[in-house]
Amino acid sequence: MIPIIDTGHGFNTPGKRSDGFVDGNGRVLLKENSVNEAVGNKLSFLFWHNDDEAHFISNEWIDISLSERVRRERELASNNTIFISIHADAFHLKNQARGGRFFYRSESGRKIAEKLTKFLKDNGYQLSLRVPMRENFKVLRETKSPAVLFEMGFMTTKSDLDVLLEDDFRNKTAQLLYDGIKSL
Ligand SMILES: [Zn+2]
Repeated sequence: MIPIIDTGHGFNTPGKRSDGFVDGNGRVLLKENSVNEAVGNKLSFLFWHNDDEAHFISNEWIDISLSERVRRERELASNNTIFISIHADAFHLKNQARGGRFFYRSESGRKIAEKLTKFLKDNGYQLSLRVPMRENFKVLRETKSPAVLFEMGFMTTKSDLDVLLEDDFRNKTAQLLYDGIKSL
């Protein structure tokens, strides 16, 4: 399997941040892009380091539209690619939602979501993982490859946020995703 890795949002995409959790200067503790990018970059590095093919389609700081992400995916898609979009979740209420989840739309996406959920759970993913859920997101609907969208955890829940901010979590999550994708 050759992953096409997407990191979801640009650094300044509005609203994609740990609303309600700020540092002493009033700055948000986490912008979603920075954790998505950290894990996605490490994941694509692991493929390169092990001489495995992968595509990383969103290394810009500026916002890339969903249509452009889909366009890039469709250009790269082949019989053995999968699409994985990496995110961190937000909920309008603080400290009310926790854990990660894989989303899918197609039947082939569902199988990958279930396998990756099991793999991460069995191998010590640091946050709880809910059962995969079907969603009609554009990047799931319009991409050509079997597609999953991974929400790693909630930026708006302090216990999840503390984990999302750790380099150790980011390194381990990239390694788990690498091993999980290799096991598909
Ligand atoms: Zn997101």
